[in-house]
Amino acid sequence: MTNPERPGGQNSATILLGAALAAAILAGLSVFAYHANRAAREREQDLVRNGFSAWIEERAVAVSSIALWDDAILHLDNAFDAEWSHQNVGEWLVVHEGFQVALALDGADQLIFSRGPDAFDGEDAQRIINDLARPLIANVRYQEQTRGPISAHFEAARGIPARIESHVVARLDDAPVVLTASLVQPDFGAALPQSDRAPIVVAVDAIDEAFLALMSERFLLEGLKLGPLAAPTRSSLARMPLLDADGRTLLVLEWRPERPGTAMLTAFMPVILLMLALLGLLGWRLHMQRVRATEHLILNEARASHLAFNDSLTGLPNRLKFGEKLQRSISQIRKSGGSFAVLCIDLDRFKEVNDTFGHEAGDELIRAAARLLGGACGPDDMLARLGGDEFAIVQPAASRGDADELARRLVSLLRDPVDLEFGRVFVGCSVGVAIIDDPAMDATECFRRADLALYRAKDQGRARHVFFDIEMDTLARGRIELREMLRTALTHGDVSIVYQPQVNHLGDLSGVEALARWTHAERGAIPPSVFVPIAEESGLIDALGAYVLRRAFLDSRRLPNLRIAVNVSATQIRKKDFALNLAELVDETGVDPSRFELEITEEVLLGDDPMIRATLETVRRLGFRIALDDFGTGYSSLSYLQRYPIDKIKIDRSFIANLGAERNADAVVGAIVRLARALNLDVIAEGVETESQRLRVQAAGCGDIQGYLPGRPAPIEEILRLAASMARAAAAPAPPQADMGLRQRA
Ligand code: C2E
Ligand code: MG
Ligand code: MG
Repeated sequence: MTNPERPGGQNSATILLGAALAAAILAGLSVFAYHANRAAREREQDLVRNGFSAWIEERAVAVSSIALWDDAILHLDNAFDAEWSHQNVGEWLVVHEGFQVALALDGADQLIFSRGPDAFDGEDAQRIINDLARPLIANVRYQEQTRGPISAHFEAARGIPARIESHVVARLDDAPVVLTASLVQPDFGAALPQSDRAPIVVAVDAIDEAFLALMSERFLLEGLKLGPLAAPTRSSLARMPLLDADGRTLLVLEWRPERPGTAMLTAFMPVILLMLALLGLLGWRLHMQRVRATEHLILNEARASHLAFNDSLTGLPNRLKFGEKLQRSISQIRKSGGSFAVLCIDLDRFKEVNDTFGHEAGDELIRAAARLLGGACGPDDMLARLGGDEFAIVQPAASRGDADELARRLVSLLRDPVDLEFGRVFVGCSVGVAIIDDPAMDATECFRRADLALYRAKDQGRARHVFFDIEMDTLARGRIELREMLRTALTHGDVSIVYQPQVNHLGDLSGVEALARWTHAERGAIPPSVFVPIAEESGLIDALGAYVLRRAFLDSRRLPNLRIAVNVSATQIRKKDFALNLAELVDETGVDPSRFELEITEEVLLGDDPMIRATLETVRRLGFRIALDDFGTGYSSLSYLQRYPIDKIKIDRSFIANLGAERNADAVVGAIVRLARALNLDVIAEGVETESQRLRVQAAGCGDIQGYLPGRPAPIEEILRLAASMARAAAAPAPPQADMGLRQRA
C-alpha cells in the first residue's frame, strides 16, 4: 500500500514556492524600474551635455556680436578707441551679456582692453591671458592663418565671414569658468584690418550659481550642483563631467534625474502589494484545500483498509487478514519449525436465533459470540470472522495440547446461555481443529483441513471439537467424486424409484412412499442418506426432485386407488418457482393432486418464512396434501403445526425403535398421536419392523404404519403384484399372504 505524501512536508514547500513567486514578481518589477530609471538618467545626461554645448555656442554668439563687426575693426584695429572699447567690449559683454571678464588683444596678442569685476585690474587680465587663454589664442591665430586674408573673402563676395573662435573649460582662482576667444572680423567689409593678424576678444563665463540656475530652469533639473570629481555621492544621481583642454575632468555637474521606474513602482506598489496579498491568500486557500484533501484521502484510505481487513459487524479481522496471518504462520514454521493450529468455529443454533428473533438479534448474537470467543484467545492468537456465524482462529506456535485446551475453552464458553436484549439463548458452538506442522502446506489447505474437521464436529452432534485427520480428507474427496458421479447418474437415468407400502389399521395397502434409489455400476447401491445431502449441497436436488416427482406422477396411473407420498427437500421448496413447476407438471401429466402427499421436514418450517408458507398454501390449493416427515427429530413447535397447512405427521422411526426398549417410549408415541388428533391431523408411524411395535403403535392410537413389517421399499412391479394379491384376498378371504405379511395381521 502506498503512503500518500504527508501534508506537513508539502506545507513548507508550498509556502516557499509562494514566497519565491512573490519575490520573483517584486524583483522583476524592481529590475524593470531600475532600467527605466537608468534610461531616463542617461537621456537627461545626453540632454544636459548637448545643452551645455548649446550654451557655449550661445555665449560664442554673444561674443561675436562684438567681434564680428566692421565697427570693431575700426575701433580696435585701425585705431584703438578706449571709449568705444569701454562701451562695447566692457559694458556690453560684462554688464549686458553677463560675462565675468572681457578682454581685447591687438594683432600682436597684447592686452589692449580689460574689464572684470570690481577689484579686477590689468595684472589679473594678463594672468588670464598667460595662464588660461594662450592655447585659445594660438588656436584662433591658426584658424586666422588658415582662413587667409579677409580682403579675399569680401572680394569673392562670400557674405559675412564665419566666426573664428575657440573655447575651453578651465579654473580661474579655483572657480570653474568657460573661456571664449573670438577673432575680430569685419561683417560687411566696410573696414579691413591693417595687418593679417586682427585683434581677439576674450570673454570669461563663470560657472556659478547663475549658470546652475539657468541650466536648472532650462532643462528642468532638480538639485543641480557641482559634484565631487570622485565617485558620485549616490549612484542614482545623474552626472555630467566637464573636460578641460587636455580632456581631464575639471568638474562634474550633478543632479537628481527623473526616476520614472521608481515613480511607477511607488504609484503601483499598493496595487501590487494588494495583488500579491490576494495571490497569497488564493495560494493559501488552495494549499489548505490540498492539505485537507490529502488528509481526507489518508483518512479514507485508513478507513478503506480497515474495512478491507476487518469485519464491520464485530471489528474482528476478516477473511483477507486471516489469510495473511495464516501465511505468516506458515512462514514462521518454515523458518523455525514447530507447529501452529487453525480452528474453525461455527455457532450451532445461530440460524434458529436469527430465524426466530430476526436479524437484529442475529447480529447481537454474533457480536456477543465474538466477545466470548475473543476472551478465550491468547494474546498472539488471531480471531477472525469469516462471514455469517463462521469464525476462525490462528493459534501460532501451538501444539496439539494447546489447541485442544483452546478448543475446549471455546466450546465450554458457548455452552452457557447468552443473554441478548431479546432474551436468553443457548447457542453452542462446534470447532474443527487442524494442527499444521508441514511447512510445504498452503493457507487454503490449512483452512480446508480445519473446515473439514468442523463438518465432522457438526455431524457428530455439535457442541464439540474435532481434530482433523487424514481419513476425513479421503471422505471429503469421496464426496466430491460422488457428486460428479450423481450428476452423471441423473443424466444417464441411473436413478430409479422404489415404493414402500403404507397400510391402515386393517392391514390394507393404503398408499406408498416413493424413495429414490441409485445403483452405481461399480460401487453398487448408494443410500439416499448419502446422495440426498450431496444433491442438496451441490444443487443437483432440483434435478433429482423433479425426476422423482415426474416418475411418481407417471407411475400413479399404474397404482390406482393408492396414495403416493413423495419426499421434497427443504432446498427444493425454498425455490421461488417450486409451486409453479409443480402445477405445470400436474398439467402435463394430467394427474389428480389429491392422490399425492408431499413429505416435508420440520426444517422447512423453521424461521416462519412467509414465502415458504405461501408456497405450501399454493401447493395445498392445487390439491396436494402435506405430511411432516420424521416428526419429533427437528425443532417442531406446536405453533408451526397450527400455522402451516399440514395434513399429516409421520412419527419418526427413532420413537418406534424405542418402543419396548425405553420406559417412556409408549407414552411419547401416545402423546404425539393425541397431539395430532387434537390438531385434526392424520398420523402414521414410520419404521415399524416388528409385530410388537405394530401392536404398541396401534395401542397408542395410530393405525397407519409404514416399515419393514408391512413391506420394504420395492420396485413398482412388486407393489403392483402386492396390490393385486391384496385385491384378490379382499374378494375371497382365503389363505394368508406369506410374502409380505399383510392383511392377516389386521
Ligand atoms: P424418509 O423419507 O424418512 O424415508 C424412510 C426411510 O426409512 C427410507 O430410507 C426407508 O427405506 C427407511 N425405512 C422404511 N421402513 C423402515 C424400517 O422398518 N426400518 C428401517 N430401519 N428403515 C426403514 P431410505 O430410502 O434410505 O431414505 C432415507 C431418506 O432419504 C428418506 O427418509 C428421505 O428423507 C430421503 N429420501 C429418499 N428418497 C428421497 C427423494 O426422492 N427425495 C428426497 N428429497 N429425499 C429422499
Ligand atoms: Mg419420507
Ligand atoms: Mg421419515
